[in-house]
Amino acid sequence: MSHPVDAVVFDWGGTLTPWHEVDLPEQWRVFAREVHGIRVDSPDVSQADLDEAHRLADRILEVESAAWTRGRDEHTSAALSDILEAAGIDAAHDRHHLALAAYRGFWEPHTHTDPQVRPLWEGLRARGIKVGVLSNTIWSREYHRGIFERDGVLDLVDADLYSSELDHVKPHPEAFRAICRELDVDPRRSVYVGTASSRTYTARSRSACARSGSRTPTSRPTSGSR
Ligand SMILES: [Mg+2]
Repeated sequence: MSHPVDAVVFDWGGTLTPWHEVDLPEQWRVFAREVHGIRVDSPDVSQADLDEAHRLADRILEVESAAWTRGRDEHTSAALSDILEAAGIDAAHDRHHLALAAYRGFWEPHTHTDPQVRPLWEGLRARGIKVGVLSNTIWSREYHRGIFERDGVLDLVDADLYSSELDHVKPHPEAFRAICRELDVDPRRSVYVGTASSRTYTARSRSACARSGSRTPTSRPTSGSR
């Protein structure tokens, strides 16, 4: 018997990962302290150094918030490297990689794939239904795929797209069309599952995925992953 659905496309943050509240300003304080050579929670730091690091953190947060606002209002994408550059961060600085590692360490507890994902995806594929991932994110494809690999589910992904490498973010129809092209499925026979406000997904009908199921969060999604 044929089924009406050829693919299910999943959001990442809060859908494939458990929903967490995240202290968004703190992500950049962790980063900025490392740029300034300040070990997190070190007691031997002058207030002036700490203040300078926190001013940098505030600047990055401001640039990042503006990028997410543009994404929400204009559906344009952004990437972490662009945000850091716009905030005046020198990627060639010798502490840059340490700062990025600290930032990723801050996010790591919020990246774990829900244990139900593997059996769910296996069940879909057993029924001949493809699995797609479409994430509004500033993180790279390589980084996201590393997370799936770490959690033992990468082998079940038929296609995955990350807005950091696209021109548009969800709910722009082109983002949905792009993942359907990657999956080689008709958008009308595809379903999107994600966390979003109901307002966001009134836009999904514009020839994007045919149907959507959304779990509405009570607050703003995590910054690095939506
Ligand atoms: Mg989400």
